[in-house]
Amino acid sequence: MSLYTPPSYDVAIVGAGAAGLMAAIWAARGGAKVVLLDGQPKAGGKILISGGGRCNVLPIESRDPVEASFHTSGSRNVLKRFFKTWRLPQIQDFVRWELEVPLVEEDDNKLFPESGKARDVRDGLVREVESCGATIVYDWRVTAIDKADANKGHTGFILHSESEEQVRAKKVILATGGESVPATGSDGFGYRLAKTLGHKQVQTFPALVPLTTNDTDLTDLAGLSLPVEWRAMVDGKEVARGVRSFLFTHKGFSGPAVLDASHYVIRDNAEILISWEATSRQEWIDYLQSRARRNVSKTVADVLPNRLAALLVERSGVRGEMRCGNLTRSTFDALLDQLCDFQLPISGNRGFAVAEVTGGGIGLDSIDPSTLESRKTPGLYLCGEILDVFGDIGGFNFQWAFISGKLAGECAAKTE
Ligand SMILES: Cc1cc2nc3c(=O)[nH]c(=O)nc-3n(C[C@H](O)[C@H](O)[C@H](O)COP(=O)(O)OP(=O)(O)OC[C@H]3O[C@@H](n4cnc5c(N)ncnc54)[C@H](O)[C@@H]3O)c2cc1C
Repeated sequence: MSLYTPPSYDVAIVGAGAAGLMAAIWAARGGAKVVLLDGQPKAGGKILISGGGRCNVLPIESRDPVEASFHTSGSRNVLKRFFKTWRLPQIQDFVRWELEVPLVEEDDNKLFPESGKARDVRDGLVREVESCGATIVYDWRVTAIDKADANKGHTGFILHSESEEQVRAKKVILATGGESVPATGSDGFGYRLAKTLGHKQVQTFPALVPLTTNDTDLTDLAGLSLPVEWRAMVDGKEVARGVRSFLFTHKGFSGPAVLDASHYVIRDNAEILISWEATSRQEWIDYLQSRARRNVSKTVADVLPNRLAALLVERSGVRGEMRCGNLTRSTFDALLDQLCDFQLPISGNRGFAVAEVTGGGIGLDSIDPSTLESRKTPGLYLCGEILDVFGDIGGFNFQWAFISGKLAGECAAKTE
């Protein structure tokens, strides 16, 4: 018989990313004795690489409706409820005043730490976790979670580590993230833990991920960036659109426009149509008609970067030296198709190794939306990217991690 008694807590949180750190703060503020376990030697690995090391920590404003910036295969009504629990201005205040991270506004509705350092956000969260009295244990990778043996008078859970240590907890919060950029510690193992506790996993896929192409004329434009309007089309019907910046890369396409559009390609097999410089078909018609005596190449190059303009004119089959006013109806239409209905030739995507988030995950139907407690295993809570929710580019994913972390932490701390 072993005389060893594992340390015991009210709440054990698995994963010290943005969601787990936030959950720890609110569980500890709720009076619970909290331990936060992470398999990595440091907390918030993904926060540190976010926003190119600068961390786009939140959006400046929500879209209308707020849930329009978020994606799930579950109920949108359920999703909507989460955003009422902690409004964006209050989250911004929390980061500014309670984490003591001054913020600056940047273009495209983004908030960054004034210092330009993602580390400040991570350090602010860790500092607050510790000052609330919660314990963080690093290099403690959870390999299994068992329900305690009720026959022996135990309640709650026993968590096991790789080095065969144990922790007991009345409640557990799973905040293990998704499976994107596995080097940060979130390698999809959390889904296995959730499955052993009765949960089903909605098929996962890389989201907010650069797309690839075999079209070398386009990869030759690597480095070129410009605003576009993108439209995702499924069976000829538009399912989504947006206006953001687009980047040509050596492997294909990236930038906020492409990252936002990528999940429609990967999940729904959508085609992506691009209007360069976000100029509408009617605007191009008016513009080209008003320059009837000018040559086509120069007229297009006055609006678009030269190399892109030349390629699009060539692909339309129009001779660049022709005057705009001499274009036939069909060549005019062919040129317009290149300028504002350009179909991206997509060969694939860069995968989980570089995807900013994971689409899919543990379905919202298996949790109580008012508490984030599992319907399958009472006492277990889930938050952050492990759930089947992700946001667009622009700080929306930290917004989700923070909202869901706070809700799970507060509810897990309550003793019924
Ligand atoms: C390159 C990149 C840039 C990004 N930039 C932005 C941005 O600027 N703005 C934005 O809003 N979002 C951004 N994101 C997305 C954002 O970082 C994530 O959505 C968010 O960090 C998810 O938080 P999380 O706490 O749910 O999961 P994670 O941050 O993935 O944290 C999960 C934690 O769980 C730990 N863990 C996993 N399994 C175990 C286990 N078995 N035992 C113990 N610990 C475990 C991991 O080590 C990790 O620390 C970016 C993502 C990437 C990859």
